[in-house]
Amino acid sequence: MVTHHTSNTQYRGRLAPSPTGLLHLGHARTFWIAQERARANRGTLILRNEDLDAQRFKLEFVSAMLEDLRWFGFEWQEGPDCGGPFAPYNQNERIHFYRAALEKLRGRGLIYPCTCSRKDIRSAARAPHATDDDEPIYPGTCRNNSASTFEPSARFNWRFRVSDGETISFTDGHFGPQQFVAGKDFGDFVVWRHDDVPAYQLAVVADDAAMQITEVVRGADLLKSTARQLLLYRALNLPAPAFFHCPLMTDDSGVRLAKRHDALSLRSLHEGGASPETLRQSWCLEPR
Ligand SMILES: [Zn+2]
Repeated sequence: MVTHHTSNTQYRGRLAPSPTGLLHLGHARTFWIAQERARANRGTLILRNEDLDAQRFKLEFVSAMLEDLRWFGFEWQEGPDCGGPFAPYNQNERIHFYRAALEKLRGRGLIYPCTCSRKDIRSAARAPHATDDDEPIYPGTCRNNSASTFEPSARFNWRFRVSDGETISFTDGHFGPQQFVAGKDFGDFVVWRHDDVPAYQLAVVADDAAMQITEVVRGADLLKSTARQLLLYRALNLPAPAFFHCPLMTDDSGVRLAKRHDALSLRSLHEGGASPETLRQSWCLEPR
């Protein structure tokens, strides 16, 4: 079973934005809930810059991100700008942590090299029309690959083998009891990409554990990823945090807010003279 931090641990929460575009009001709402929960628990809030995606990452967005967060009223006690006991807080500078986690998984025989392209997976997937915007279930094509059959220079993804049929349960702080079945709701997933970049699932687990995060507050689009991540916590023998997923914000026509909603970026709202207080009041939040 997955182990959890004990209840007398000092609360540690995090904001983990990715600087691939301007932050929008939906991010701000989720982050605000995270900040409120940290405050209510007299905890520490950290800011982690999730800048691993080098192709999409732009330096100008990092400074914009920090400015927009401060303008909106966010205050963090540890982060890339102010340091802290778990520095560095930029994922780009933490590759050695992720590599150590990868080596642990490899040593335990829990991952395998996968040479499938996205197209291969789409055409062979067991459930090609998966229920939502999540990735298709991996069909298992490379499950029996061993690393020794590849040249060291070969390009492949490292994929984590899930325990088919196992039910992963957790109690979400907002949505209550959750259950996902490995191999049915999600399949083997990538932990290290062929372009030598750690995948989101591995990096976030390694960081949340290393930074001693006790509760992860994030958007409801990541509920299923929590099941994947719980398998990684167990595989790495790390204590898992508690989880609190927030309902996603939609625009007037019911479409989920995304970075393309430029008018709802914090930057545009700020430039248009909006006040953070008024924006927050419109949410009618009940974060606790
Ligand atoms: Zn494969």
